[in-house]
Amino acid sequence: MKRHLIIGGGIAGCSLAWRLIQNGEQVRLIDDKKNKSSSIAAGMINPIVFRRVTKSWRVDEFLPEAVRFYQDLERSTQCKFFKEIKIRRFFASEQEKKYWDEKQKTTEYQNYLSPSENLKRPYSNSDKKWGSGIVKNAYRVDAAYFMKEIQTLLLSRKSLRYEFFDQNQLNPYELTYKNERYDSVVFCCGSDQDRIPYFNRVEIQHTKGQLLTINSCDMTEKETWNHKGFLLPTGPNLFKVGATIERGARDTRITKEGMENLIHILEGMFSGSYQVSKQVAGIRPTVFDRRPVLGQHPVHNGLYIFNGLGTKGYLMAPLLSQEMMHFILSDKPLNREVQLMRFNKKDV
Ligand SMILES: Cc1cc2nc3c(=O)[nH]c(=O)nc-3n(C[C@H](O)[C@H](O)[C@H](O)COP(=O)(O)OP(=O)(O)OC[C@H]3O[C@@H](n4cnc5c(N)ncnc54)[C@H](O)[C@@H]3O)c2cc1C
Repeated sequence: MKRHLIIGGGIAGCSLAWRLIQNGEQVRLIDDKKNKSSSIAAGMINPIVFRRVTKSWRVDEFLPEAVRFYQDLERSTQCKFFKEIKIRRFFASEQEKKYWDEKQKTTEYQNYLSPSENLKRPYSNSDKKWGSGIVKNAYRVDAAYFMKEIQTLLLSRKSLRYEFFDQNQLNPYELTYKNERYDSVVFCCGSDQDRIPYFNRVEIQHTKGQLLTINSCDMTEKETWNHKGFLLPTGPNLFKVGATIERGARDTRITKEGMENLIHILEGMFSGSYQVSKQVAGIRPTVFDRRPVLGQHPVHNGLYIFNGLGTKGYLMAPLLSQEMMHFILSDKPLNREVQLMRFNKKDV
C-alpha cells in the first residue's frame, strides 16, 4: 500500500482520492474550503456540442464511466444526486438543424440525438424559426449535494482535512509534507494552480461563470432547455439559468452585469413569469486547447498534476481520475491529448 497526498478537494481531487482508496491505497486529501467551481456547478453532463452538432471529446468513453462512478457513489453514500435528464436544444440556425437532421440518422449519433421537431412549446421564445431536438443520454449531478456527500465519505475514512497547503512544508526531493512521507503528491487545485510553485508553465486560465436560481410555476420540470444558455430544472418550480463566460476574472463576486446577461439568456428562451432567488459565481479551470492537463513533474517525479477540467468536470473526472490513478500506480501511459508535453517546455 502506498501513501498519496492530494491537494484540492473539488471534483478532480475527490474523485481521485476515492479511486485510490477503493484500490486499497492510503490517501490524505487537503482542501482549503475555498472551492471555486465544483460545488456551484450546474452539474450537467451533455454529450453534444451544439452549432456543428458534434460529440463531445471522448464522450463514448467518458459517459459510461461517469454513469458507473456516480451510481456507485450513490450506493456508497445512500444518497440520490445523479439522474438522467432530457436536454431540448432550440436550434440557433437553419445550418444547425441541417447538421442535426443529418447526424441523427447515423448510427454514431443515434444514442444521443432524437429526431428534430417543429412543435411550439408553451412559454418558449426560441423555437419559432428552426425548431428543436432532444439530446438523449444526458445526465445531471446535483453538484452541491454530491460534493458534500463525497467529502463526508472521505472524512469518515479519515482521508480529508480542511487546511491550506503550506508549500514551505513540502520537500519535493524527499516527498515529505509536514514531516510525513508520501509516495506521490498530486495537485488538483483548479483555478488556484498558479499559486503553487510547481507546474507553473502549465497555463490554467480562469473562466468565471455565473448562474441564477429562479422559481417559476410556468415552466415544465421535465426538460432542460438550451439556447445561448440553459434553463435546468432542479426541484419543484426551481430552475438554474446559466451560464456566463467571463475570461480572465479570478474573483467569485456576483455582478449586476452577470445578472443582466443571465436574464437576457432566460428571456431569450422563456416567456413565462419567474422570480430570481439566488445568484452564484465560480471559476472554471480552463486550458487554451480545451483539454485537461494530467502528468508528472519532469524533475520532481513524485509530483503530479490533475487539472484543466474546464466546463466539463462532471463528465470527465470519473474516467480521468481512473486513468490518473493507473498512471501514478503503474505508469500506464496517459491519453496523448492530456499530456504535459503539449506545453512544449522542459521545465514545467
Ligand atoms: C458557473 C459554472 C457552471 C458550471 N457548470 C458545469 C456543468 O454543468 N457541468 C460540468 O461538468 N461542469 C460545470 N462547470 C465546470 C466544473 O465546475 C469544473 O470543471 C470543475 O469543478 C473543476 O473541478 P476542480 O476540482 O478541478 O476545481 P475546483 O472545483 O476549483 O476545486 C479545486 C479545489 O482545490 C482547493 N485548493 C486550491 N488551492 C489550494 C491550496 N493551496 N490548499 C488547499 N486547497 C486548495 C480549492 O479550495 C478547491 O476546493 C461549471 C463551472 C461554473 C463556474
